[in-house]
Amino acid sequence: MLRIGTEDEMKQSFRPIDQDEVEFPSEMTFPLLVRDYLAWVEPSGHRTYLVFADPVSNKARGIVFKRGHQSADAPAAMCDWCHSVRGRGAVGMLTATVSKTNRVGLVLCRDLSCKEKLDKPPGANDVFETYPPEDKKARLIERMSAFARRNLF
Ligand SMILES: [Zn+2]
Repeated sequence: MLRIGTEDEMKQSFRPIDQDEVEFPSEMTFPLLVRDYLAWVEPSGHRTYLVFADPVSNKARGIVFKRGHQSADAPAAMCDWCHSVRGRGAVGMLTATVSKTNRVGLVLCRDLSCKEKLDKPPGANDVFETYPPEDKKARLIERMSAFARRNLF
């Protein structure tokens, strides 16, 4: 669990290339405890923000994801991180800025509600995984961390 003291400290968890795009929800108050991760969606719906407690560096890491257009009748897709399978545009492409000319994309729950899905009974199309919920959550954070280390940080 990580404690983030101020909004400025939270902003520092994002890379400089992302920092100008970060907007905090008005209901977010500091200090803030990040148990596993926090995610929120910009009111316009164009971006999803992620701040997670990186188990490798033991630091908060922030990522700004852009949401591509996803139609409501899109076929069901599987989230790369929590492995939930959802239709109607709930799972789709999110992209993060690598550099001025390069972006990297993942197929994810578009609102990053992954951890809530781990606590719920699986959907009809979900891949059946027998790990206990705490293990699943740890794996989820490991996948976030591996993605961030490989591509961004
Ligand atoms: Zn997910």
